[in-house]
Amino acid sequence: MGSKLRIRADELQLPWLKAKGFELSLGRVAREWEEEEGPTPMPDIASLREWDKRLLKRYKPFYLPFCDLCCLCTFGKCDLSKGKRGACGIDMGGQLSRIVLLSCCIGASTHCGHARHMLDELIEKYGRDYPLDVGGENVYLEAPIIRLVTGIKPRTLGDLEDVLDYCETELVHLLSCVHTGQEGDNLDFESKVFHAGMIDHVVMEVADIAQVSAFGFPKADPEAHLVELGMGVIDSSKPVILVIGHNVPPAIGVADYLAKAGLEDKVEVCGICCTAIDLSRYSRKAKIVGPISFQLRFVRSGVADVIMVDEQCIRTDILQEAQKVNAVLITTHYKNLQGLPDRTKDPVDQIVEDLVEGKLPGAAILDPEKAGEVAVKVAMQIAPKRRKMGLIPTEERLMEESRRCTSCFSCVRSCPNTLPIPEALAEAGRGNLKPLSDLYEPCVGCGKCEQEGVCPVGIKPHTLIVGAHRREIAEEKFKMRTGRGAIQDIEIRRVGQPIVMGEIPGVVAFVGCSNFPGSWKEVARMAEEFARRKYIICTTGCSAMAIGMYRDENGQSLYETYPGVFDAGGIVNCGSCVSNSHIAGAAIKIASIFAKRRLRANYEEIADYIHNRVGAVGVAWGAYSQKASSIASGFWRLGIPVIVGPHGSKYRRALLGRKEDREVWKVIDARTGKEAYVGPVPEHLFFMAETVEEAMVAIPKLCMRASDTTKGRSIKLNHYIDLHRRLFGDLPDDLHLFVRTVADIPVTMKEEVMAFLKEKGWKEFENPNPDPTLVPRLIRVKEG
Ligand code: SF4
Ligand code: SF4
Ligand code: SF4
Repeated sequence: MGSKLRIRADELQLPWLKAKGFELSLGRVAREWEEEEGPTPMPDIASLREWDKRLLKRYKPFYLPFCDLCCLCTFGKCDLSKGKRGACGIDMGGQLSRIVLLSCCIGASTHCGHARHMLDELIEKYGRDYPLDVGGENVYLEAPIIRLVTGIKPRTLGDLEDVLDYCETELVHLLSCVHTGQEGDNLDFESKVFHAGMIDHVVMEVADIAQVSAFGFPKADPEAHLVELGMGVIDSSKPVILVIGHNVPPAIGVADYLAKAGLEDKVEVCGICCTAIDLSRYSRKAKIVGPISFQLRFVRSGVADVIMVDEQCIRTDILQEAQKVNAVLITTHYKNLQGLPDRTKDPVDQIVEDLVEGKLPGAAILDPEKAGEVAVKVAMQIAPKRRKMGLIPTEERLMEESRRCTSCFSCVRSCPNTLPIPEALAEAGRGNLKPLSDLYEPCVGCGKCEQEGVCPVGIKPHTLIVGAHRREIAEEKFKMRTGRGAIQDIEIRRVGQPIVMGEIPGVVAFVGCSNFPGSWKEVARMAEEFARRKYIICTTGCSAMAIGMYRDENGQSLYETYPGVFDAGGIVNCGSCVSNSHIAGAAIKIASIFAKRRLRANYEEIADYIHNRVGAVGVAWGAYSQKASSIASGFWRLGIPVIVGPHGSKYRRALLGRKEDREVWKVIDARTGKEAYVGPVPEHLFFMAETVEEAMVAIPKLCMRASDTTKGRSIKLNHYIDLHRRLFGDLPDDLHLFVRTVADIPVTMKEEVMAFLKEKGWKEFENPNPDPTLVPRLIRVKEG
């Protein structure tokens, strides 16, 4: 397997042909790769179905209907409650898995579209032969997911085109499965969900290794620089450009123009969401305002003179919000034009003049370099004229407003976190702003409480909450380590064995958006707890910011206290959403580099290895976009469990193990070919925790694996028992299922645990340390 041979010529003249922009593609060219190809290069939808069914036998879908109706076609709407089927024959289980598939297709297509858009632009600029380099000598295994799934070993940007060709085909097929009258079996829908997730991880890897290589982001660097983070770090005395979204080239256009014009210290550039992280990987001057939930509050602060948006997770009313504070909006992506005129082909000075004179509220500029230049020129010209007066009221005005509240609770009913707004307003009306200010952290900044018709007297609760917190906001000054990209091969060699043995108790990945049910500090609290306990903490995107927006007892952010190395006690920020691929990639590298399992096109064996041996768990704590479902399902197919917060019930189904069912928890001992009971490890594949305490207890439990040595299991049990006792006051009541032999029991807890086990009628496991696999073809013993 190799890449296509392409011949390009700007102008071609033959006796029979005259062409401009000529390009000829000659199929695939075999390329040397020392490793033999595995059984599933570029798997289609059904290729890994057997593996999926093995996982789904352990982790049965548990459905939580959000709504009993299906309205996806005009035969409906169909009532699917109480065992009824729709006009097409589908039942509730099939329908709910179908909706999860739809969500995963949306998420994976979004990453895939982003990867294709960026790759096209990079190839246009740097050429197909531009080499991939994600870590120099430190990263020989540059694209573990691509190699595993497709069998391609990419060397250049052009090689990534072949990878995307495959992924786009799979995504079209997957989406077509959602059509009326296609799949009818819920487990086959779930297998397709896993396929969408796997494709999502491939395209995320494409996007990140392309941008790391072409833009010179930190390359697998544990000491990637620290970035200023928080609303309080933005210097509003300068012209301010705010970038929001996930496609960094236009923001890089801003940074490049500032550098070229010698204006780097004259203009403040800051960002929200993944574009912010990626810009900080490119420019040390860039600052990060905060995660997605800070969008409304920062825009409304009026600090930004120009708001530049690209794609994904941008408020769809961003133009109206920008107009409220007289900021200019520049859209830079055809996916999000906001009704603005396309000025891409107009001269820069003409666009600048129209925007500065207010002839237009904004413009679409689809050329990243031109967009960057316009943004800088507009910001510099309008900043001196524009009063940076946002919509945040003074304390006096705020108290006056609060007194008008009639305590009708309409705002509470529309609030996703059911915040006690009327009570806080009553206190604010009496001059005590603290209860209102305290709502700032659990408020996710959605603005639903301020929508037309919610408050009968026209109060704007979100704005008042931000106003009450004004002084603290000025002190929001933190540091976070920018995205380091991939994990080095040498780091994997160092930690592979202790992870597989269980002596490093686990890898915990905090990922996703930050619309948390409580404060973003919940994520930081969890990260700190497990870093102290010497787990390896990985993070990306808005969760990486949440971890940074917290100071420990020494007044430092967690990134200053803990190293960025992929090792016990490290806090590793890989980067933006697409950098999630490096977390999955690290698990794959453990199987490939440490255990020397064949990687190329050998998905099932590698996933089997990870599921049974690599104690890793993902935690996605907030309410999320569809991308989170595809990211999670990519981890599921690798057999890695994911914990979500209370908002997770909106996924409509969980993948739960039945811990008491001994049959489900048998593996095959690859040394003997015989079955061995290993206990419920890991117990669930997709688990919803109601509280942060529940999540903190589930993390060590879901890091247990069948391969743990007695020393490793003892360490993991120590964390499980200790956290359960601290947070719930007693021993976990399922402890007997995880103790395989007396040697597993932590020494300091022996007496107490033995008494508990006796009560439960516990017996030692027959074969506590098998060489575990779920795949019969991996049995090593030969018959006869
Ligand atoms: S897709 Fe099936 S269940 Fe849904 S509305 Fe159409 S016929 Fe009814
Ligand atoms: S902006 Fe905050 S207070 Fe208002 S509805 Fe959203 S979460 Fe609730
Ligand atoms: S909707 Fe308005 S009046 Fe009613 S409780 Fe909320 S702020 Fe008060």
